[in-house]
Amino acid sequence: MLKIYNTLTRNKEDFKPIREGKVSMYSCGPTVYNYAHIGNLRTYIFMDIFRRVLRYDGYKIKGVMNITDVGHLMSDADDGEDKMAKASREQKKTPLEIAQFYTSVFFEDLSKLNIGRPEVIAKATEHIQDMISYVSQLVDKGYGYEIDDGIYFDISKFEGYGKLSRLNLEEQQAGARVEVNSQKRHPADFALWKKAEPGHIMQWDSPWGRGYPGWHIECSAMSRKYLGMPFDVHTGGVDHIPVHHENEIAQNEALTGKQSVNYWVHGEFMLVDNGKMSKSLGNTYRISDLEDRGYRALDFRYFCLNTHYRKKLNFTFEGLDAAKSAYARLLSLLFKHKSSNEPTDKDLLKSYERDFEDAIDDDLNIPLALGVLWKMIKENKSKDIYELALKFDKVLGLSLDTAACDEEEPREDIPAEIVELCERRKAAKANKDYAGADALRSEIAEQGYTVVDTKDGYKVTKA
Ligand code: AMP
Ligand code: ZN
Repeated sequence: MLKIYNTLTRNKEDFKPIREGKVSMYSCGPTVYNYAHIGNLRTYIFMDIFRRVLRYDGYKIKGVMNITDVGHLMSDADDGEDKMAKASREQKKTPLEIAQFYTSVFFEDLSKLNIGRPEVIAKATEHIQDMISYVSQLVDKGYGYEIDDGIYFDISKFEGYGKLSRLNLEEQQAGARVEVNSQKRHPADFALWKKAEPGHIMQWDSPWGRGYPGWHIECSAMSRKYLGMPFDVHTGGVDHIPVHHENEIAQNEALTGKQSVNYWVHGEFMLVDNGKMSKSLGNTYRISDLEDRGYRALDFRYFCLNTHYRKKLNFTFEGLDAAKSAYARLLSLLFKHKSSNEPTDKDLLKSYERDFEDAIDDDLNIPLALGVLWKMIKENKSKDIYELALKFDKVLGLSLDTAACDEEEPREDIPAEIVELCERRKAAKANKDYAGADALRSEIAEQGYTVVDTKDGYKVTKA
């Protein structure tokens, strides 16, 4: 049985979804004002591994990921400029252009890293009415109050505030930044809706005049809309525990009066050279930066898989070099197994399989699972082992069957535009938009590529 560490209880717990065999999962997605860096992508690799383990264990998943294209302010204390508006001003493009551009690069990065797309991708700007209705209900119930610059959530009215981060109100108060808004009842009260200053580039009509939603309400409104409440799992990076997720819980539970999410699961941070990633230090690498230096995206995925998701991972180029050569060696050893005719004892195969499954079910212990893979390919050489490795790869997502290795012809590179069309087609199919999916297939064919559906998604080749 799968065990997973729940931040809410600080315990590794047996995983029991609300509906048998089905898992509802919400994952905080990117704020699309800039490129995703390798730290962000580590968090999505963790999400992907979690989804793959659930699927390996036989669950059907409804996963939702938001795209934050409005409302995320420069500071978590609800001040500063909206990140999208700032990017729009600096890059002289509309917020829509900014969002479309960075969203498409984000999905290209996900597909390079073999990170599967959640079933529902929800853009904040397409759910403004859901958010307004959510805020109205909170106001009606007495949890929201209006001041000059917006509608705020009154955290002192919500008894459970702080239960995720385990901070009490005094600590929240002490931790809050310099008080900028004296009308707030408590420094940690947060914005549900902000009133637009004149000239604000993104604004919508609301019962409180024109404005735009707060960042936290987006995730509450969209998770509730697509998954209902309670739902099973919420994922994100550890930085979200004290503010963003605490606030989501407050909004959810103030509205519904009951626990909203059963398992809160958080990925630890990636550091660079043992420190924070920051633009000023010039160490916020993107996947394409790594590719420019001769690494493949999957070298980076392999690098991440070597560390448990709840441990900090320090990125260095030496570490990435080691991962790159280990991954290349893995592929080349497996290639030798593929062409071997020697059988492997069935009981031995079963014992490897059991060890692998025990590892992944123990709070997604992928480093241990990789250890089982290495052990079995070193101890034997056979086609059976190759096939078992491919089964394990459903969880690892390292393209063990198709990634190019020294002994093989390199895999042909599929251009990013084609991958994007294929991903859109997959999403259309998932949304039962078969006419849309067919139109995309024709578009792909017109550009000289063939896409066929497989058990795990699709395969695209040059026609
Ligand atoms: P953002 O676009 O800032 O909302 O971040 C997207 C995701 O990346 C969130 O789940 C964050 O928790 C996560 N994240 C941000 N920085 C890092 C980092 N250095 N390491 C791992 N995850 C991160
Ligand atoms: Zn979120």
